[in-house]
Amino acid sequence: HGFSSLSLRPELLQVLTALGYSQPTPIQTQAIPAILAGQDIMAGAQTGSGKTAAFSLPILHKLTEPLLRLDEKNQQESEAPSCSQVPAIRAIRALVLTPTRELALQVHGSFVKYAKLTQLKSALVYGGVSIDAQAQILAAGVDILVATPGRLLDHLRRGSMSLSELEFLVFDEADRMLDMGFKDEIDAIVKQLPKTRQTLLFSATFDESLYGLSQSLLRDPKRIEV
Ligand code: AMP
Repeated sequence: HGFSSLSLRPELLQVLTALGYSQPTPIQTQAIPAILAGQDIMAGAQTGSGKTAAFSLPILHKLTEPLLRLDEKNQQESEAPSCSQVPAIRAIRALVLTPTRELALQVHGSFVKYAKLTQLKSALVYGGVSIDAQAQILAAGVDILVATPGRLLDHLRRGSMSLSELEFLVFDEADRMLDMGFKDEIDAIVKQLPKTRQTLLFSATFDESLYGLSQSLLRDPKRIEV
């Protein structure tokens, strides 16, 4: 199994085997170890390169860590009821920003697929549909949120969620986000995020404005070109 050397959790490797993924793609080979090691990433990657798994697999691996530790702890201290260890309110720990609803749907679908054997919950918010239904899902608690920038800001302004516990911020197709005029929304969102976080930026192309954005958002990023 070509993924075994990337030291991903068995519950992720099992899903990859079931999906028939035998070898990581070049972007996965480069990005997964760097993300697991805690580095920021600035990656040039086209659709079809396997970029979605390149960021979602290591994020799922890292988000599963504390849950597993709690489970193990509960098994050791069997007198403690396990529910007392689980926080009542789940905080959003990973946020993926995408330029379009179509890409958001696709990325969310990938997270659901890869997280099948974990207890992590992901949700999706985009514009053009009822905001209340989305707010209800958020209120129930999610670990991973995939969102388009405008609707995410609407939710933040309504107070339907907090991003104060965020650990991972991902920009998927960052060039299209800038092309579509989302720079102000991105700035407003980033202002509400913890400064200590891991930021992963994926883009098909890089120009001056994207380098500018990367400089302000990423900390000593590993650059990946495939
Ligand atoms: P993406 O570039 O993320 O949109 O992925 C393109 C397609 O490749 C998706 O349908 C994935 O399910 C698939 N895929 C991603 N990684 C692998 C892999 N290592 N082996 C086989 N298929 C993959």
